[in-house]
Amino acid sequence: MTRIVYLNGDYVPEQEARVSVFDRGFLFADAVYEVTAVLNGKLLENDGHIARLLRSCRELNLALPVTPDALEAIQRELIARNHLREGAVYLQLSRGSTGDREFDFPPAGTPPTLALFTQARSVINHAKAISGIRVVTLEDIRWHRRDIKTVGLLAPCLAKEFAHVQGADDAFLVEDGLITEGSSCNAWIVTASGTLVTRPLSNDILHGITRRSLLELAKNHAIPFEERAFSVEEAYAAREAFISSATTFIWPVVNIDGRTVGDGAPGPVTRALRAIYVEMALRATA
Ligand code: PMP
Repeated sequence: MTRIVYLNGDYVPEQEARVSVFDRGFLFADAVYEVTAVLNGKLLENDGHIARLLRSCRELNLALPVTPDALEAIQRELIARNHLREGAVYLQLSRGSTGDREFDFPPAGTPPTLALFTQARSVINHAKAISGIRVVTLEDIRWHRRDIKTVGLLAPCLAKEFAHVQGADDAFLVEDGLITEGSSCNAWIVTASGTLVTRPLSNDILHGITRRSLLELAKNHAIPFEERAFSVEEAYAAREAFISSATTFIWPVVNIDGRTVGDGAPGPVTRALRAIYVEMALRATA
């Protein structure tokens, strides 16, 4: 089915949307993005995603050409026009084009490129949410501002390919022996004493919107947690492990580098936390 996408003020069939070859998003990855999950045809946790977009824009001195409310209206319009019930809305804002390749920022007033599209996919009943995934560890070769959600995603693409070639689903990225995050998700373990552990916020990781909600839900449900870096060895020895992101919510990690995590099945803390998150998400989008 042909999707209707949004590009710079227009809603057009996907094959008619055209962006210049000189667009700075294309030439320099000079662009930021967000992905908001859609459930029951409604946006989930969108305030968090828009707040993070504004932060990414601020950090890169990139001006959003519409108000946050207008942006949400575009997201909703796309959901309606594409009859999307479950999946995601992707949005990308680049610094536009001056009609040539120049490193220097374009003059003030150069229009940015704002593009949005929908993606239909199963979120609640995804097979991997039930089976869990296998991950492999890999050196984190990304730049030092992983807190900014830019489209410079070659390293995560390489990481996923590295994982797939080894028969795994995804990679845990490692810096100085410590896991930063997954290639497109935050990484978590559950220790032998039942404590959730995930890396604290810094420029080393993306400040996941799902991560933040999970910590809040853990607090409300008296599930102990610690925000601290953890090593690859600690992950091998963990009772449970999982990833979080807007479009997976939580997927259990049942194997790391060929080593079984816990007893090899999605663990009870992981399953409970996913159920709590799903309940919140269904209530928020009812
Ligand atoms: N880390 C990285 C590197 C990501 O790409 C993502 C997903 N965009 C996340 C973490 C999870 O963030 P969120 O929960 O906001 O989707």
